[in-house]
Amino acid sequence: MGIDFAKELKTLEDHALLREFRTIEGSQGTYIQINGNSYLSFCSNNYLGLANHPKIKQATIDTINQYGWGTGASRLVSGNMTLHQKLEKKIAEFKCTEAALLFPTGYMANLGAISTIVSKGDIVIGDKLNHASIVDGCRQSGAMFRIYPHNSVNQLESLLQKSSIYRRRLVVTDSLFSMDGDTAPLPEIVNIAKRYDAIIMIDDAHATGVFGKYGKGMIEHYGLEGKIDIIMGSLSKAIGSIGGFIAGSKCLIDLLKNKARPFIYTTALPPAACAASLAGLNLIQEDTSLIDKLWKNINFLRSRLSEFTNNISVQSPIISIIVGSSDDTLNLSAKLYEDGILIPAIRPPTVPTGTSRLRVSLMATHSEDDIDRLIAVLKNVGFLTHKNKL
Ligand SMILES: *Cc1c(COP(=O)(O)O)cnc(C)c1O
Repeated sequence: MGIDFAKELKTLEDHALLREFRTIEGSQGTYIQINGNSYLSFCSNNYLGLANHPKIKQATIDTINQYGWGTGASRLVSGNMTLHQKLEKKIAEFKCTEAALLFPTGYMANLGAISTIVSKGDIVIGDKLNHASIVDGCRQSGAMFRIYPHNSVNQLESLLQKSSIYRRRLVVTDSLFSMDGDTAPLPEIVNIAKRYDAIIMIDDAHATGVFGKYGKGMIEHYGLEGKIDIIMGSLSKAIGSIGGFIAGSKCLIDLLKNKARPFIYTTALPPAACAASLAGLNLIQEDTSLIDKLWKNINFLRSRLSEFTNNISVQSPIISIIVGSSDDTLNLSAKLYEDGILIPAIRPPTVPTGTSRLRVSLMATHSEDDIDRLIAVLKNVGFLTHKNKL
């Protein structure tokens, strides 16, 4: 049997599912350079524009001068440095928990936490639209893995009712869904999980730095401080840096240090990356204007879209414009690109078949003119037509 990688790639291409890189030539901002041209970007998780913020750049430069770049070892061997400790303390404070643990990425945080907390003999119950890193953690854990329809609190309860034979029960959900931009009904989910004595874990990757006056995420938004057993987050989105974390009780964190393989068997994050995260967290707490500006933009886009359609829901900086087929979505994305706007097509397996979409993400650094331009281009390609003309 020959190696038929080419055939597999061709199949992807035939189904409009082949993915390819675009290369960003300059830095990450609202305008980005590709092939020497400037594009208005509506597809970055850099919601507050911190990835290229002067204060954050300076913090990393100062840290490199003092501590160098690399860490040379995993945390438990000799890679644990002052800035890891400082950042973990800061994250615990920020998320109102006893302790926190850094992972090199959010993906690894989900993988490590879930596969440590549950194993064979346990059950993990999650939302159908949970992020891939949660799904991978659930699969890897060896625990029974059940899903409920998106945001269906009733179905969650019925699964919990039927799960009393398991040793540990873990309920896990995205707090802000990454491909749909809608939020989980957390207060209800927390109540139900508590009623059935289940452990509750949320993935706050997209809500961190976005929801709550001080950007503490969905716990602040819903006033759930201290009520969630395990909070996962990413420093790579609104915080503009790199890294993932788990925040929770001291016992949970000590257990992860001892058992989470994606924590133990990998090199510690560079101290400069921790400094960037610390600077980002300090910045959003000292000055809430960036978060305010982001929400101003969200509200502005909502009001502009409402002139055309009631079918696009705007609840967060992630706005999902469902197109349907992968082909149509690719074509629409290509047309926007010709008009200088970058919004890649999101296709299966990232989203369910038949729900290919443009996923718009807003940033605090977009201007109202930028958002008007997006609307104009969507109109220009025939995607938006005024309601009264329909
Ligand atoms: C991006 C993302 C992750 C992974 O975080 P990284 O730090 O990028 O690895 C986990 N969960 C959700 C919901 C995400 O959107």
